[in-house]
Amino acid sequence: MRRYHVTTFGCQMNQHDSERMKGMLESLGYSETDSRDDADVILFNTCSIREAADNRLVAHLGHAKRLKSERPDRIVGVGGCWAQSVKDEVFARFPFVDVAFGPGQVHKLAEFLTSDSLTAQGFFEFEGFTGHLPAKRARDFQAWVQISIGCNCVCSYCIVPSTRGREVSRPPGELVCEVERLAADGVREVTLLGQNVNSYGRDLRGDERASFAELLARLDAIDGIERIRYTSPHPKDMREDVIRAHAELPSLCEHIHLPLQSGSTAVLKRMRRTYTRERYLDRVAMIREHVPDCALTTDIIVGFPGETEADFEQTISVAEEVGYDGAFTFIFSPRRGTEAATLRDQVPHPVKVERLERLVEVIQRRARERAQRFVGRSLEVLIEGPSRTDATRLRGRSRHNKVVNFAGLGSSGDMVEVEITSATSQTLAGTESLLARAAH
Ligand code: SF4
Repeated sequence: MRRYHVTTFGCQMNQHDSERMKGMLESLGYSETDSRDDADVILFNTCSIREAADNRLVAHLGHAKRLKSERPDRIVGVGGCWAQSVKDEVFARFPFVDVAFGPGQVHKLAEFLTSDSLTAQGFFEFEGFTGHLPAKRARDFQAWVQISIGCNCVCSYCIVPSTRGREVSRPPGELVCEVERLAADGVREVTLLGQNVNSYGRDLRGDERASFAELLARLDAIDGIERIRYTSPHPKDMREDVIRAHAELPSLCEHIHLPLQSGSTAVLKRMRRTYTRERYLDRVAMIREHVPDCALTTDIIVGFPGETEADFEQTISVAEEVGYDGAFTFIFSPRRGTEAATLRDQVPHPVKVERLERLVEVIQRRARERAQRFVGRSLEVLIEGPSRTDATRLRGRSRHNKVVNFAGLGSSGDMVEVEITSATSQTLAGTESLLARAAH
């Protein structure tokens, strides 16, 4: 049996696409190997968000080159956003690569592998949902569900619209069927994926037309699905009906990831984020009004071209005011092919680093303060496996998407009640409620 090995870089959408790549390969009779050295088909699902991603990929491709030179019959394939961003240049730069394909062309890999083509081939059209392919899920009880592809926004620092194309939503009926199949297959938690999930449905017509809030309600009604999450929403499209859904739909989790990027309206304008600091804080206030206990996380870029100390102070004050439960913080790095890479007033690197340190201090302090609200409470936790820091303890996630490490008797996929005894900015700690276990 021929074996494959997949290396995945980047976001949840790439993790989803890799699960589909594996499912497709296994439907062709391939089996997975954990060691690239033992693989007959060596695949990379690439990211192109930051230059750094490219440099890491080049190192991995060096290893594939060596393996290919040892056994020329091996197939080396490069998929994902980086492949889409450079297209046929892949072969010019890495002549040992046999097949390259964009995020919308994963299915072409099957065609290539089943054809007796001897020449290298590239597939870069924006068509097709990888969500239509069979999936090999990393966990039986959790699943990614791709609800749309592409993005119609034009954020000046982002390459995604050019690597994933325009927004196309999957029909709601198709998504309901997929989630029903997943529930029948033992999945308890689904995460809906899109570059901009809350603009879902705007391109759908006639009977198929449905808003994101309507889609959430239809998926909430499916038996067996106990938790629904989604990523990534855009603040400009965070409407009241979606926020109310978090208060009304039992399976929709109390966590919203709402990327801020900057707290300065002037910087947001140069980022082409199409919302202001005031609009963003208005959405946060509405979330806190309808779902007071909702966990809020975010993405913030520090050191965007032209960012002054005063602009940065605006970001710090939003972080102080909102009190995020967590945040992904990034130093701006110019991405070739984006508008922001050509902007004047690039911020010196030492200034970016110093600002990032100040921001992280505020984020962690506020997150620690916010996390104390869970101490003394009993939280429902979906067990994901053993704790990463102590093998005698278990690890799981609360509905707020907080990581919980605890002493307990459960196993992966179990939903248990945990008494929270302490909280840091990152994780909660506790003990499984044996009373609740006995009651179940
Ligand atoms: S919303 Fe902006 S940052 Fe997000 S994928 Fe679209 S263009 Fe990129």
